[in-house]
This record gives sequence, structure tokens and C-alpha cells, in this order.
Amino acid sequence: MEQTITEKIWHNGKLINWNDAKVHVMAHVIHYGSAMFEGIRCYETPKGPAIFRVKEHLQRLINSCRIYRTELEYSLEDLCQACAEVIRVNKLREGYIRPVVFRGYGTFGVNPLPNPVETYIVCWEWGKYLGAEAIERGVDACVSSWARISPNTLPAIAKVAGNYMNSQLVKMEAALDGFVEGIALDAAGYVSEGSGENIFLVMDGRLITPPLSASILPGVTRDSVMQIARAAGITVTEEAIPREMLYIADEAFFTGTAAEITPIRSVDRIRVGKGSRGPMTQWLQDEFFGITSGNKEAPGDWLYFVAEQEPPSSRRKVAH
Ligand code: PMP
Repeated sequence: MEQTITEKIWHNGKLINWNDAKVHVMAHVIHYGSAMFEGIRCYETPKGPAIFRVKEHLQRLINSCRIYRTELEYSLEDLCQACAEVIRVNKLREGYIRPVVFRGYGTFGVNPLPNPVETYIVCWEWGKYLGAEAIERGVDACVSSWARISPNTLPAIAKVAGNYMNSQLVKMEAALDGFVEGIALDAAGYVSEGSGENIFLVMDGRLITPPLSASILPGVTRDSVMQIARAAGITVTEEAIPREMLYIADEAFFTGTAAEITPIRSVDRIRVGKGSRGPMTQWLQDEFFGITSGNKEAPGDWLYFVAEQEPPSSRRKVAH
């Protein structure tokens, strides 16, 4: 691993070099998937880099840790500042932030509890996840033959590494069959989500998205879209979506930190609407990217400006 993507990585309160962020092969996480993580974007704005909804993302990380009985040493505020710090020290104007908390090297059995908890925050520059053209032209998706994890097996509200084995099956099948993304159904056969995105349909001017009970991750982008739409008087409902509604919707799109708002132009080779980005999707993209770029007013504290955070030297937990 000679290549350095960014210079510094935050580890348990200290900044270390990219090449020093190594894990032993017998760490618990390698064998049993015991990592809780987040994916957060930082956008360039006229007031410098701003991290999008960092508190909501890190609260979800704290929740994921709680579900898996993992004691986090850092508060929400510590973690927010640490995210700002990695962006600042790596001199990124925009990029992707990956906080990850995992069970490290200790004992070799399944029980995670005796193993140390390691917290890392990594950042790097990352472009459009589903392809540069996808945001405008849309993507071709399929319904996966793999169902989404079900409530009594793995909790979907936790964003944890193990859940992504299910996502990988969905993604690989889709890619090998010539689709950009796969859509998983839940255990009852209703639409759940993409391998790394939530899904919305537009029908008769309304927005429809699956509820939390459909084994979805409660997406921060999903919540942002719901808030933007509702503020504009658009009806948004969370309801069970039968698979065939994907084929007859006026518009469909994915939401996610990596995918942002990506139109879906076909499902199972059936055109969705006109087979291109629809007007509601485009309007939501304009609003969303207007907010993330700092050009439209963000509701509440959606933008966390890196330059406004305390200098690290005056902080307790972060040593240099
Ligand atoms: N579902 C899954 C399975 C995901 O991995 C993601 C990406 N974190 C999402 C939905 C979207 O969540 P968010 O908008 O918070 O990134």
C-alpha cells in the first residue's frame, strides 16, 4: 500500500499517516463484520468546505454502536469536530468522509465484547458514485433476486459492515447482468432499497418511499428530500410499495450520500415514465444541490462549515 490517498487519518483521537492506518488480520472485524460506519459528504461552498448534515450522520453512527453494544469513547460533538479536522488537515475542498468504529484485535471467538473498540475517520475526494452522467441521464436498475436483510435477522437501522454482504450480493448480480444498481425487496416482497441507496417513486405529483419497516436504512438524504418536498407543499408518504409500482411510476430515483439524487430510467428493462430524468426529480436535485453548494438557504444546521470549527490545538481529546 504505497499510495497515499490523503495524508492524515484520525484514529482514537490522534492524527496518523495514511500508511500507518493498519489492522491485524486477526482483528475481530475481519472475521465477523463487526464495524459500524458512516458515509458523509463535504461540499465546496462560498464559505469554504461544509459537511452535509454531519450531526445526523454521526447520531446514526452512535445509534449503530448502541444497537451492537459498542461503547463509543467520543461524544457527538467530538466526532463532528474530528470530521471537520480531517477535512482541514488534508486540505480538501470537498470529499467523502468515512468514520468507522470496529472491534479490533483481542480474542478470536464470535463474542465481540472482549475486543477493543477502534475509531477511525478517513476522508478522500470522491466523485459521482453511480457515474458522472447518471445524475442527468439516470440509471438502469433491476429488482434483485436477493431479498433485503429481514428484521429478525439483522437490524437494518444500524449501518454496519455485515449488512453490506447482502448489499454486495445485490450489487454484484446487478452489475454482472448489465445494470448499474439492484433494488432489493423486503422479506414480505415489498420494495426495500438499493444496495447503497434509498428509493423514491413519483406518482400523480406525490412522493412515495418505503417505510422503516421495509428493512431500509433511514437515509439522511432520504430525510433531506422528504423535508425539501414537504416544505414546498408536496405530499410525501411512506408506504409499502408493491414491486410492480416501480414499472408504472411517473418517475423514480435513488437517494444516498454517495449517489445523492440519481434518477432511475428503467427497472428490469421497463422504462420508468419517459425513460429519462423527470421534472420532480430534476426540481429536487436543483434544490438539493443548491443547498449543498451553499447557494440556496439550508434548513436549520444542515451545513457544518469546517472553517467555523474550533482549532484542534484548543481541544482536549485530539493530540498531535
Ligand atoms: N441504504 C443503504 C443500504 C445505504 O448504504 C445508504 C448509504 N448510506 C443509504 C440507504 C442512504 O443513506 P444516506 O442518505 O444517509 O447516505
